[in-house]
Amino acid sequence: MPDANRLKSVFAHIEKSRENSVTRLVNYLRQPSISNTGEGIAATAQLLADQLASLGLHSEIFSTARNPVVVGRWQAGEDRPTMLFYGHYDTQPPEPLEAWTTPPFEPSIRDGRIYARGAGDNKGQHFAQILAVESWLAVHGELPCNLIVMLDGEEEIGSPSLPAFVGAHRDRLKADLVVTADGSMHHSGSPIIQFGVRGFAGFELRAKGARRDVHSGNFGNIAPNPIWTLIHLLGTMKSPDGKITIDGVLDRVIAPTEDELAAAAALPVDVEGVFRDLALDRLDEPADRPYYNRLMFHPTLTINGLHGGAQGDQIKTIIPSEARCKCEMRLIVAQDPHEVLDLIEAHVRRHAPEVDFIRLHTTPPSRTPIASRFTAPLIEAITTARGVGPLIYPSVGGTLPDYVFTKILGVPTFLIPYANADQANHAPNENMKLECFIAGIRTGAAILSYIGDMRDAV
Ligand SMILES: [Zn+2]
Repeated sequence: MPDANRLKSVFAHIEKSRENSVTRLVNYLRQPSISNTGEGIAATAQLLADQLASLGLHSEIFSTARNPVVVGRWQAGEDRPTMLFYGHYDTQPPEPLEAWTTPPFEPSIRDGRIYARGAGDNKGQHFAQILAVESWLAVHGELPCNLIVMLDGEEEIGSPSLPAFVGAHRDRLKADLVVTADGSMHHSGSPIIQFGVRGFAGFELRAKGARRDVHSGNFGNIAPNPIWTLIHLLGTMKSPDGKITIDGVLDRVIAPTEDELAAAAALPVDVEGVFRDLALDRLDEPADRPYYNRLMFHPTLTINGLHGGAQGDQIKTIIPSEARCKCEMRLIVAQDPHEVLDLIEAHVRRHAPEVDFIRLHTTPPSRTPIASRFTAPLIEAITTARGVGPLIYPSVGGTLPDYVFTKILGVPTFLIPYANADQANHAPNENMKLECFIAGIRTGAAILSYIGDMRDAV
C-alpha cells in the first residue's frame, strides 16, 4: 500500500502552488512551437531541457531528421520501476487568426479556462506532468520511481522521426510502462484511461480512360468510363451489409477478450444524441454491433473522396479521362498496415489490373491488455487524485503512434487525458480548464506514487 501521507503532502504543495503553476503555464504557452513551419521549435526544446535540468533530471536534446526530441531522466534505484512520460511540445498552426477571441500566443484566462494554442494539445498536459515531478521533488527531494520524460516535437505532423528515434535509443528509453497525458477526458468530465488505438493504412486508386475527356454522346459506349471502373472495383471491396470482402485483410484481427468486451459495454453512450447531432437515423452497417465495439474491435474501410469528371454545379456531358479515389483502413490488433496494403493491392490487381494503386500514410495499431499489472495502480492513482474512477477504454477509434512504445520498445502504454472534452484542440480558441490543469498535476503526482510503490514490478 502506498504511504498515503507521502502523496498527501505533495497534494498540499500542489494546492499551495496553484497560482504559481498557472503563471508558469502562461509563460510556457507564450512560446510558439509550430511543427508545420518550425517556428519556435528549437527555442521550446531548449526551454524544456533547461526546465527538466533545473529539477535535477539529466536532460538532453536529441536532433532528428526534423524536430528535436527532449529527454529527461531521473534514476531512483535499480529496484524501482521505470516509467516513461510521453508528451509533445509542438502544436498545430494557429490560423485562422481572426477567429481567436484573444491572440493564440498571448494566453488569456477567462471563466476558469486558459486560452492559447497548445493549451490542451499538448503543452498544458505535459507541463502538468512536469509540475507533478517538480512538486514531488520539492516535497521529498527524490522521486519514488525511475522516470524518463520524453517530449516529441513532431506529433502534429505525424511524428515522422519518432519510430527511428525510439528504435535507435531502445536502451536509453527502456521503461516498464509508458504514460501519455494527451487527448480529452469524457464530455461528462469523467477521467478516462485508454489502452489502445486503431492503426491506419491509406491508399489511392487512379483509373484512366481515354487520353482526354470526350463527348459522352459521340463516344458513349465507345470510351470506357474510369469512374465506373473505380465504382465496380470499390464494390468488390465491401458488401452492402458492411462486410469487408478483400481476401485476407481480416485474418489477423484479434477478437476482443472478455474484459475488453465488458469494459466497452460499461461505457456510457447516447446514440440518440449522436443521431441528433449528426442528423442520422441509423448507424452504419453491419447493424447488429454495439456502439463502442464498432470503434474498438473492428477495422474500417472508408472512401474519403471519389473524384473525376464534372464537379460541383457544372453540367458537362463528358466521359472523363481520369478518376481518383482516396481510401483508408483503420486497423485493429494485430493487423500490419504494410501487409494490409499488400493484400489490397493484390485485390486491385485481380479485379481491375489497369487501376494504379498508390500507398499513402501508415501507422500500426496498438493495444495494451487491460490485464496489465499496471492497470490497477493507475486506476487507483487516478481515483485518488480526482475522487472518481476513470472510464476504461480498451481502445479508441482514432490513431496515435502508440505502437512505437508497445511494438518497438515492447512496453505497456496507457493514455490518461487531462484536458476538458471541449478543449477545441487544433481549432481557434483552444483552451484548457484550469481545474483540469491542476487535477492533471495531482494525477501525475499520484501516478508517480502508485507506480513507485510497485517494487515487485521490476
Ligand atoms: Zn494535436
